[in-house]
Amino acid sequence: MKLSTKITVSLVLGIFFGAILNGFFPSAVPALDQYVLSPVGKGFLRIIQFVVVPIVFTSLIVGFLSIKNTEKVGRLTWKLLTLYIFTNIIALLIGMATASVLKPGAAVGDVGKLSAQEAPEGQGILDWLISIIPSNPFEAFSTGNLLQIIFTAILIIIGLRLAGDKGKPFLSFIESFHHIIEKITGVILKLSPIGVFALISSVIATQGFGLVQKLIMYILGLVLAIGIMLAAYSLILFVCKVSPARFWKSFSPTFGIAFGTASSNAALPVAIENAQRHFKMKDEIASFAIPLGTALKRDGACILQGFNALFVAQLFDVKLTPLLIATIMISSIVVSFSTAGVPGAGIIMMSTVLTAANLPLEGIAIVAGIDRLTDGFRTLLNVFGNTANAALLDQWERKAATKPFSKGKMTA
Ligand code: ASP
Repeated sequence: MKLSTKITVSLVLGIFFGAILNGFFPSAVPALDQYVLSPVGKGFLRIIQFVVVPIVFTSLIVGFLSIKNTEKVGRLTWKLLTLYIFTNIIALLIGMATASVLKPGAAVGDVGKLSAQEAPEGQGILDWLISIIPSNPFEAFSTGNLLQIIFTAILIIIGLRLAGDKGKPFLSFIESFHHIIEKITGVILKLSPIGVFALISSVIATQGFGLVQKLIMYILGLVLAIGIMLAAYSLILFVCKVSPARFWKSFSPTFGIAFGTASSNAALPVAIENAQRHFKMKDEIASFAIPLGTALKRDGACILQGFNALFVAQLFDVKLTPLLIATIMISSIVVSFSTAGVPGAGIIMMSTVLTAANLPLEGIAIVAGIDRLTDGFRTLLNVFGNTANAALLDQWERKAATKPFSKGKMTA
C-alpha cells in the first residue's frame, strides 16, 4: 500500500474508532486517551518536529546557494509574495462571504449557556515583526521559531557568499547534514499512519458534542469556506496549466499529515519530499518556497479570522460599517502571516483581529472549545495553499524560461 493510502485509511479508521469510543464507551475514554492515544499522538508530533528545524535550515542554504544569480532570489521572493497576497485575499473574501450568507452567529442562541474558556492573549503586529530578528541564533533553533531560523539562514547564506572558498567546508557539512535529515525523514514518515490514527481518534473520542450542536453552523460554515477555497485553488492551478489531479496525487501524504496533526510545521518535511520526488518541482523552488510558505502562508487563517470576526459581530449584534469590514480584512491578512504552524495557533491570533476591529473578545472563549475540530481542515488548506503557491511559482518560472528574450530567460 502507498503511504498516502495508508494515511487516508488511518484517518478514516481513527475517526470511526474515536466516534465509537465517544458514543458507546465514554467511561473508557479518559484512561485510553491518557495512556494510549495522547502519548502515541504527541510522540509522533514530537518525532516529526525533530526534523523540521534541520530541514528548514539546511534546505534553505542548499536551495539558495544553488541559485547562482542573486537577482533571481529577489525575483522569486517577490513573485511568491505577490501570489500569497492574491490568494490570501481570495480566501478571506470566501470566508467573509460564507459567514455573511450562513449567519452562524445568529444561529447560536443563548450565548450564556456555552461553556466559555479563557480567551488567550495575542501578540501585536509590530512586536511580531521585530521578533523575526533573532537576538541569538541558537535560541531560534532551540525554540524552533521558523521565521527566525529563515532569517538566520539568509544571514548565513550572505556570509557564505562573502566568505568564498573559506566557507566551502561549512557548506559541504550542511549538504551532508541535509542528506542525512532527508533519510531520517523517510524513516519517520513510515510511522505517520499510526501517529495520525492516534491523534484523530483522540480528538473525536474526547470531543463534547453538546457544544458542537450549538456551534454547528459555525463549524459547517468554516468547513464549507475551506472546501470552496480548495476548489478555487484547483481551478487556479488548472487555469495556470498545472494539473490539479497530479498536484493532489503528489501531495496527498502531506495533506493527510496536515489534517491529522493540525500542524503546518509537522507537514513541512513531507511537503518538501513530495514536491521534489513526486511533483518534480525544481529543487531550488521546493527548498525555498515551501519553508517560507510554512512560516507565512495561511489561507486557512485568513478564512478563520474573517469568518470568526463576522460571527462575533453577528453574535453581539454589532453593525457592520465599511470601516469595520476594512479593518477586519486588513488585520486578518496581516495576522495570517504571523500565525504559527502549530495546533490552535489561529485561536490565539483571534484577539488581535477582534481588538483591531473593536469586537468583544468573549467571542474567542465561545469558539475555543470546538477549535480543534476545524483546525485539521484549516491546516490542510494552509498546507495546500503553501504547496499550490510553490507549484504556481514553479510553473511561472518554467514559462518565463521558455519565452525567448523574456526577463526570466535573461536572468535565470
Ligand atoms: N494549526 C494551523 C496550522 O498549523 C494554524 C491554525 O491554528 O490555524 O497551520
